Amino acid sequence: MTERDRGLDEVHVLWISEGMSCDGDTVSVTAAAQPPIEDVVAGLVPGLPTVHLHNKVLSPTVGGEEFLAPFRAAARGELGPFILVIEGSIPNEKINGEGYWTSFGNDPETGQPLTLNWWIDRLAPRSWAAVAIGTCATNGGIHAMAGNPTGCMGLADYLGWDFTSSGGLPIVNVPGCPVQPDNFMETLTWLLHHAAGSAPPPPLDELLRPQWLFGKTVHEGCDRAGYYEQGDFAGDYNSPKCQVKIGCWGPVVNCNVPKRGWMGGIGGCPNVGGICIGCTMPGFPDKFMPFMDMPPGGSLSSMMVKPYGAFIRRMRGITNRTVNTEPKWRHNREALTSGFDPAWRP
Ligand code: SF4
Ligand code: SF4
Repeated sequence: MTERDRGLDEVHVLWISEGMSCDGDTVSVTAAAQPPIEDVVAGLVPGLPTVHLHNKVLSPTVGGEEFLAPFRAAARGELGPFILVIEGSIPNEKINGEGYWTSFGNDPETGQPLTLNWWIDRLAPRSWAAVAIGTCATNGGIHAMAGNPTGCMGLADYLGWDFTSSGGLPIVNVPGCPVQPDNFMETLTWLLHHAAGSAPPPPLDELLRPQWLFGKTVHEGCDRAGYYEQGDFAGDYNSPKCQVKIGCWGPVVNCNVPKRGWMGGIGGCPNVGGICIGCTMPGFPDKFMPFMDMPPGGSLSSMMVKPYGAFIRRMRGITNRTVNTEPKWRHNREALTSGFDPAWRP
Protein backbone atom coordinates (compact mmCIF):
# COMPACT_ATOMS: atom_id res chain seq x y z
CA MET A 1 0.00 0.00 0.00
CA THR A 2 1.18 3.49 -0.79
CA GLU A 3 0.89 6.43 1.61
CA ARG A 4 -2.03 7.70 -0.46
CA ASP A 5 -3.86 4.38 -0.17
CA ARG A 6 -3.73 4.62 3.61
CA GLY A 7 -5.25 8.12 3.55
CA LEU A 8 -8.89 9.13 3.90
CA ASP A 9 -11.05 9.76 0.85
CA GLU A 10 -13.80 11.63 2.67
CA VAL A 11 -13.81 13.76 5.80
CA HIS A 12 -16.65 15.55 7.57
CA VAL A 13 -15.95 18.81 9.35
CA LEU A 14 -18.32 19.12 12.32
CA TRP A 15 -18.06 22.75 13.37
CA ILE A 16 -19.86 23.77 16.56
CA SER A 17 -19.91 27.49 17.28
CA GLU A 18 -22.17 27.17 20.33
CA GLY A 19 -19.29 27.80 22.68
CA MET A 20 -19.37 31.17 24.41
CA SER A 21 -18.48 33.33 21.45
CA CYS A 22 -19.66 35.96 19.00
CA ASP A 23 -19.37 33.57 16.00
CA GLY A 24 -16.65 35.90 14.77
CA ASP A 25 -14.35 33.05 13.76
CA THR A 26 -16.93 31.60 11.40
CA VAL A 27 -17.49 35.05 9.92
CA SER A 28 -13.74 35.61 9.65
CA VAL A 29 -13.15 32.36 7.77
CA THR A 30 -15.59 33.42 5.04
CA ALA A 31 -12.84 35.89 4.05
CA ALA A 32 -10.10 33.27 3.68
CA ALA A 33 -8.15 33.18 0.43
CA GLN A 34 -5.29 30.77 1.16
CA PRO A 35 -7.30 28.69 0.36
CA PRO A 36 -10.91 29.91 0.34
CA ILE A 37 -13.16 27.59 2.33
CA GLU A 38 -15.51 27.29 -0.65
CA ASP A 39 -12.63 25.92 -2.78
CA VAL A 40 -11.95 23.24 -0.17
CA VAL A 41 -15.62 22.26 -0.02
CA ALA A 42 -15.95 22.32 -3.82
CA GLY A 43 -12.94 20.02 -4.22
CA LEU A 44 -10.86 22.62 -6.05
CA VAL A 45 -7.72 22.16 -3.93
CA PRO A 46 -5.71 19.27 -5.40
CA GLY A 47 -4.85 16.32 -3.17
CA LEU A 48 -7.46 16.81 -0.47
CA PRO A 49 -10.13 14.30 0.55
CA THR A 50 -13.75 15.13 -0.23
CA VAL A 51 -14.84 17.53 2.51
CA HIS A 52 -18.38 17.72 3.91
CA LEU A 53 -18.62 20.95 5.90
CA HIS A 54 -21.25 21.29 8.64
CA ASN A 55 -21.17 24.88 9.89
CA LYS A 56 -24.36 26.73 10.68
CA VAL A 57 -23.50 29.93 8.80
CA LEU A 58 -22.20 28.11 5.74
CA SER A 59 -24.80 25.32 5.77
CA PRO A 60 -27.03 24.65 2.75
CA THR A 61 -29.62 23.03 5.07
CA VAL A 62 -32.68 24.83 6.39
CA GLY A 63 -31.30 24.41 9.90
CA GLY A 64 -32.96 22.63 12.82
CA GLU A 65 -32.91 18.84 12.79
CA GLU A 66 -31.65 18.71 9.21
CA PHE A 67 -28.55 20.60 10.28
CA LEU A 68 -28.15 18.58 13.49
CA ALA A 69 -28.44 15.18 11.76
CA PRO A 70 -24.70 14.61 11.09
CA PHE A 71 -23.82 15.74 14.62
CA ARG A 72 -26.35 13.30 16.10
CA ALA A 73 -25.02 10.53 13.84
CA ALA A 74 -21.46 11.25 14.92
CA ALA A 75 -22.48 11.17 18.61
CA ARG A 76 -23.93 7.70 17.98
CA GLY A 77 -20.71 6.63 16.25
CA GLU A 78 -22.44 6.38 12.88
CA LEU A 79 -20.59 9.05 10.89
CA GLY A 80 -17.38 8.55 8.93
CA PRO A 81 -14.12 10.21 9.95
CA PHE A 82 -14.61 13.80 11.05
CA ILE A 83 -12.67 16.81 12.21
CA LEU A 84 -14.33 18.46 15.20
CA VAL A 85 -14.02 22.25 15.17
CA ILE A 86 -14.99 24.01 18.40
CA GLU A 87 -15.64 27.75 18.34
CA GLY A 88 -16.16 29.64 21.60
CA SER A 89 -15.12 28.95 25.15
CA ILE A 90 -16.45 26.00 27.09
CA PRO A 91 -18.36 26.81 30.26
CA ASN A 92 -18.12 24.75 33.40
CA GLU A 93 -21.53 23.08 33.51
CA LYS A 94 -20.71 21.69 36.96
CA ILE A 95 -21.44 25.16 38.32
CA ASN A 96 -24.55 25.99 36.28
CA GLY A 97 -26.94 25.88 39.20
CA GLU A 98 -30.44 25.02 38.03
CA GLY A 99 -29.85 25.83 34.38
CA TYR A 100 -27.19 25.53 31.71
CA TRP A 101 -24.69 27.92 30.18
CA THR A 102 -24.79 27.06 26.49
CA SER A 103 -26.46 24.42 24.35
CA PHE A 104 -26.70 22.97 20.85
CA GLY A 105 -30.03 21.31 20.01
CA ASN A 106 -32.33 19.45 22.39
CA ASP A 107 -32.53 15.90 23.65
CA PRO A 108 -35.39 14.39 21.55
CA GLU A 109 -36.59 12.28 24.49
CA THR A 110 -36.64 14.87 27.25
CA GLY A 111 -36.82 18.06 25.21
CA GLN A 112 -34.02 19.43 27.42
CA PRO A 113 -31.12 21.39 25.91
CA LEU A 114 -27.97 19.42 25.07
CA THR A 115 -25.02 21.37 26.38
CA LEU A 116 -21.88 22.04 24.39
CA ASN A 117 -20.07 19.94 27.00
CA TRP A 118 -22.40 16.98 26.27
CA TRP A 119 -21.45 17.19 22.61
CA ILE A 120 -17.73 17.54 23.26
CA ASP A 121 -17.77 14.55 25.63
CA ARG A 122 -19.25 12.39 22.87
CA LEU A 123 -17.63 13.82 19.76
CA ALA A 124 -14.05 14.61 20.81
CA PRO A 125 -12.99 11.00 21.55
CA ARG A 126 -14.47 9.89 18.19
CA SER A 127 -12.98 12.74 16.17
CA TRP A 128 -10.13 12.10 13.74
CA ALA A 129 -8.81 15.53 14.79
CA ALA A 130 -10.06 18.19 17.20
CA VAL A 131 -9.42 21.84 16.40
CA ALA A 132 -10.03 24.89 18.60
CA ILE A 133 -10.68 27.93 16.44
CA GLY A 134 -10.18 31.39 17.91
CA THR A 135 -8.91 32.51 21.29
CA CYS A 136 -12.15 31.67 23.14
CA ALA A 137 -11.89 28.00 22.17
CA THR A 138 -8.13 27.81 22.59
CA ASN A 139 -7.73 29.57 25.95
CA GLY A 140 -11.09 30.91 27.10
CA GLY A 141 -10.73 34.44 25.75
CA ILE A 142 -12.94 37.34 26.78
CA HIS A 143 -15.60 35.15 28.41
CA ALA A 144 -12.97 33.68 30.73
CA MET A 145 -11.93 37.03 32.23
CA ALA A 146 -11.54 37.40 35.96
CA GLY A 147 -14.94 37.74 37.59
CA ASN A 148 -16.82 35.69 34.99
CA PRO A 149 -19.63 33.53 36.43
CA THR A 150 -19.39 30.59 33.99
CA GLY A 151 -15.93 29.22 34.85
CA CYS A 152 -15.35 28.89 31.10
CA MET A 153 -12.12 27.65 29.53
CA GLY A 154 -10.43 26.52 26.31
CA LEU A 155 -10.81 23.10 24.68
CA ALA A 156 -7.46 21.81 25.99
CA ASP A 157 -8.32 22.96 29.53
CA TYR A 158 -11.56 20.99 29.19
CA LEU A 159 -10.27 17.80 27.54
CA GLY A 160 -6.76 17.88 28.99
CA TRP A 161 -3.63 19.21 27.28
CA ASP A 162 -2.49 15.63 26.57
CA PHE A 163 -5.73 14.68 24.76
CA THR A 164 -5.25 12.75 21.53
CA SER A 165 -7.91 12.24 18.88
CA SER A 166 -8.80 8.93 17.23
CA GLY A 167 -6.42 10.01 14.44
CA GLY A 168 -3.60 10.13 17.00
CA LEU A 169 -3.35 13.93 16.93
CA PRO A 170 -3.18 16.41 19.80
CA ILE A 171 -5.71 19.23 19.89
CA VAL A 172 -4.80 21.87 17.32
CA ASN A 173 -5.14 25.44 18.64
CA VAL A 174 -5.53 28.31 16.18
CA PRO A 175 -6.00 31.42 18.36
CA GLY A 176 -7.00 34.95 17.39
CA CYS A 177 -9.90 37.22 18.29
CA PRO A 178 -11.16 36.50 15.75
CA VAL A 179 -8.93 33.96 14.08
CA GLN A 180 -6.98 35.28 11.08
CA PRO A 181 -8.92 33.55 8.26
CA ASP A 182 -5.94 32.23 6.29
CA ASN A 183 -4.25 30.99 9.46
CA PHE A 184 -7.22 28.72 10.07
CA MET A 185 -7.66 27.58 6.48
CA GLU A 186 -3.95 26.88 6.08
CA THR A 187 -4.02 24.74 9.23
CA LEU A 188 -7.19 22.93 8.14
CA THR A 189 -5.69 22.31 4.71
CA TRP A 190 -2.53 20.87 6.29
CA LEU A 191 -4.71 18.57 8.41
CA LEU A 192 -6.64 17.50 5.31
CA HIS A 193 -3.41 16.74 3.45
CA HIS A 194 -2.37 14.69 6.46
CA ALA A 195 -5.74 12.92 6.34
CA ALA A 196 -5.11 12.16 2.67
CA GLY A 197 -1.79 10.59 3.62
CA SER A 198 0.23 13.16 1.69
CA ALA A 199 1.69 15.21 4.58
CA PRO A 200 3.00 14.67 8.09
CA PRO A 201 0.98 16.06 11.00
CA PRO A 202 1.21 19.84 11.35
CA PRO A 203 4.07 20.86 13.68
CA LEU A 204 2.71 22.41 16.87
CA ASP A 205 4.39 24.31 19.70
CA GLU A 206 3.96 23.52 23.40
CA LEU A 207 0.69 25.47 23.42
CA LEU A 208 -0.55 23.31 20.51
CA ARG A 209 -0.37 26.21 18.05
CA PRO A 210 0.93 25.76 14.50
CA GLN A 211 4.62 26.58 14.81
CA TRP A 212 4.96 28.30 11.46
CA LEU A 213 2.15 30.73 12.30
CA PHE A 214 2.90 31.62 15.92
CA GLY A 215 6.69 31.32 16.15
CA LYS A 216 7.40 35.04 15.73
CA THR A 217 6.22 38.19 17.48
CA VAL A 218 4.00 40.94 16.10
CA HIS A 219 6.93 43.34 16.51
CA GLU A 220 9.18 41.19 14.31
CA GLY A 221 6.73 41.53 11.43
CA CYS A 222 5.44 45.06 12.02
CA ASP A 223 5.63 47.76 9.35
CA ARG A 224 6.48 50.26 12.13
CA ALA A 225 9.43 48.38 13.63
CA GLY A 226 11.88 50.74 11.90
CA TYR A 227 10.45 53.62 13.92
CA TYR A 228 10.87 51.65 17.15
CA GLU A 229 14.49 50.92 16.36
CA GLN A 230 15.09 54.64 15.78
CA GLY A 231 13.36 55.60 19.04
CA ASP A 232 10.61 57.44 17.16
CA PHE A 233 7.30 56.96 18.94
CA ALA A 234 3.71 57.94 18.22
CA GLY A 235 2.06 60.24 20.73
CA ASP A 236 -1.46 59.62 19.39
CA TYR A 237 -3.33 57.27 17.08
CA ASN A 238 -3.01 59.50 14.01
CA SER A 239 0.72 58.97 13.78
CA PRO A 240 2.40 56.46 11.44
CA LYS A 241 5.18 55.86 14.03
CA CYS A 242 5.70 53.07 16.56
CA GLN A 243 2.75 52.76 18.92
CA VAL A 244 4.42 51.19 21.96
CA LYS A 245 3.86 54.29 24.09
CA ILE A 246 0.16 54.31 23.29
CA GLY A 247 -0.55 50.72 24.25
CA CYS A 248 1.00 48.32 21.69
CA TRP A 249 2.06 44.94 23.13
CA GLY A 250 3.55 43.73 19.83
CA PRO A 251 7.10 43.06 21.11
CA VAL A 252 5.88 40.23 23.39
CA VAL A 253 2.94 38.79 21.45
CA ASN A 254 3.06 35.74 19.16
CA CYS A 255 1.07 36.55 16.03
CA ASN A 256 1.76 36.78 12.30
CA VAL A 257 -1.01 39.23 11.43
CA PRO A 258 1.25 42.22 10.64
CA LYS A 259 3.12 40.08 8.11
CA ARG A 260 0.10 38.29 6.69
CA GLY A 261 -2.43 41.12 6.79
CA TRP A 262 -6.07 40.45 7.47
CA MET A 263 -7.99 40.00 4.21
CA GLY A 264 -6.13 39.43 0.96
CA GLY A 265 -2.90 40.61 2.56
CA ILE A 266 -4.39 43.98 3.53
CA GLY A 267 -4.51 45.29 7.10
CA GLY A 268 -2.77 43.75 10.12
CA CYS A 269 -3.39 45.64 13.37
CA PRO A 270 -0.30 47.86 13.97
CA ASN A 271 0.37 48.21 10.24
CA VAL A 272 -2.86 50.14 9.90
CA GLY A 273 -2.91 52.03 13.19
CA GLY A 274 -4.36 49.50 15.63
CA ILE A 275 -2.29 48.75 18.72
CA CYS A 276 -1.68 45.05 19.36
CA ILE A 277 -3.73 44.02 22.40
CA GLY A 278 -2.41 40.44 22.44
CA CYS A 279 -5.64 38.81 21.27
CA THR A 280 -3.92 35.54 20.29
CA MET A 281 -2.36 35.00 23.71
CA PRO A 282 -3.32 32.67 26.56
CA GLY A 283 -3.18 35.64 28.96
CA PHE A 284 -5.70 37.63 26.88
CA PRO A 285 -7.50 39.79 27.88
CA ASP A 286 -6.66 40.10 31.61
CA LYS A 287 -2.89 40.42 31.24
CA PHE A 288 -3.17 43.12 28.56
CA MET A 289 -5.59 45.45 30.32
CA PRO A 290 -6.29 48.28 30.56
CA PHE A 291 -6.05 48.45 26.78
CA MET A 292 -4.43 51.60 25.39
CA ASP A 293 -2.17 52.07 28.41
CA MET A 294 1.55 51.70 27.76
CA PRO A 295 2.69 48.10 28.52
CA PRO A 296 4.78 47.96 31.73
CA GLY A 297 7.97 47.01 29.85
CA GLY A 298 7.34 49.61 27.14
CA SER A 299 8.48 52.48 29.30
CA LEU A 300 11.90 50.94 30.05
CA SER A 301 12.59 49.62 26.54
CA SER A 302 11.51 52.84 24.82
CA MET A 303 13.61 54.89 27.27
CA MET A 304 16.68 52.75 26.56
CA VAL A 305 16.26 52.80 22.79
CA LYS A 306 15.71 56.57 22.71
CA PRO A 307 19.34 57.87 22.87
CA TYR A 308 20.61 55.14 20.52
CA GLY A 309 17.66 55.73 18.20
CA ALA A 310 18.08 59.51 18.17
CA PHE A 311 21.80 59.20 17.29
CA ILE A 312 21.21 56.56 14.61
CA ARG A 313 18.34 58.55 13.14
CA ARG A 314 20.61 61.62 12.81
CA MET A 315 23.39 59.59 11.18
CA ARG A 316 20.94 57.97 8.80
CA GLY A 317 19.55 61.39 7.92
CA ILE A 318 23.02 62.51 6.82
CA THR A 319 23.61 59.32 4.82
CA ASN A 320 20.13 59.54 3.37
CA ARG A 321 20.84 63.04 2.02
CA THR A 322 24.15 61.77 0.56
CA VAL A 323 22.57 58.83 -1.27
CA ASN A 324 19.79 61.10 -2.49
CA THR A 325 22.44 63.12 -4.38
CA GLU A 326 23.71 62.02 -7.83
CA PRO A 327 27.46 61.39 -8.26
CA LYS A 328 29.22 64.58 -9.42
CA TRP A 329 30.38 63.15 -12.79
CA ARG A 330 26.82 62.98 -14.17
CA HIS A 331 26.93 66.23 -16.21
CA ASN A 332 26.87 67.39 -19.82
CA ARG A 333 30.16 69.30 -19.83
CA GLU A 334 32.85 68.44 -22.36
CA ALA A 335 35.22 66.53 -20.07
CA LEU A 336 34.58 62.97 -18.81
CA THR A 337 35.02 63.07 -15.00
CA SER A 338 33.84 59.59 -13.99
CA GLY A 339 37.39 58.28 -13.50
CA PHE A 340 37.27 55.99 -16.55
CA ASP A 341 40.84 55.40 -17.80
CA PRO A 342 41.25 53.18 -20.92
CA ALA A 343 45.03 52.95 -20.31
CA TRP A 344 44.68 51.61 -16.77
CA ARG A 345 46.24 48.15 -16.12
CA PRO A 346 46.52 46.24 -12.83
S1 SF4 B 1 3.70 49.47 16.65
FE1 SF4 B 1 3.90 47.74 18.15
S2 SF4 B 1 4.54 45.99 16.95
FE2 SF4 B 1 4.87 47.79 15.67
S3 SF4 B 1 7.01 48.40 16.04
FE3 SF4 B 1 5.77 49.53 17.55
S4 SF4 B 1 5.72 48.22 19.39
FE4 SF4 B 1 6.41 46.94 17.68
S1 SF4 C 1 -1.55 41.89 15.96
FE1 SF4 C 1 -2.15 41.69 18.15
S2 SF4 C 1 -4.27 42.45 18.27
FE2 SF4 C 1 -3.79 42.04 16.09
S3 SF4 C 1 -4.49 39.94 15.66
FE3 SF4 C 1 -2.31 39.80 16.27
S4 SF4 C 1 -2.34 39.47 18.52
FE4 SF4 C 1 -4.38 40.22 17.92
